[in-house]
Amino acid sequence: MSEGPTAIERYRQLREQISSGKVRSLEQMHCTHLTCRPGCHECCVNLTVFPVEFYAILDDLRLAGVTKLDFDREASCGYLKDGLCTIYQVRPMICRTHGLPIAFLNMDADEPEMSVSFCPKNFIDADESIFSEETTLNIDELNYQIYEANLRFIEENPQLQLAPDSRICLSDLPLYLDQQVAKKR
Ligand code: SF4
Repeated sequence: MSEGPTAIERYRQLREQISSGKVRSLEQMHCTHLTCRPGCHECCVNLTVFPVEFYAILDDLRLAGVTKLDFDREASCGYLKDGLCTIYQVRPMICRTHGLPIAFLNMDADEPEMSVSFCPKNFIDADESIFSEETTLNIDELNYQIYEANLRFIEENPQLQLAPDSRICLSDLPLYLDQQVAKKR
């Protein structure tokens, strides 16, 4: 078994590091180009996440005393209510990057190349030359760090019989919360 922080602790460290580091600095840097505001949920869709992220969120909810969650099957993401995220404090990592310029290795190009994507409501009048390593969030690097924490999570939890590429639908949170409450009774 690996030494150091547990997989869930590592995930939480990473989340804190990204939220209060790169994400915050990009929000400040690009504030004149971002139209993101409470109520806009164009980026919100139902997601699957790595098990380490799913179980960390589940644990966060349990620690916050949440025993029941509503999930709207008709919404683009079932955790939206009146246009707002009902699990905002514990939302997945990808949700924390909504609206920001995201750099990724584009394998669909003739030659693989770094590309940048962002919400079409943002950066309307911006020149794309403003995008560089410092002014974008490299999503491949972030996903790799989550992937590494997830490998550790799989090693720590053999009873879950997870494969390295296993994903869990975020929509399953209410189900797992119910099961945890039932187990405690
Ligand atoms: S979890 Fe929250 S922020 Fe993430 S997609 Fe769903 S509603 Fe949007």
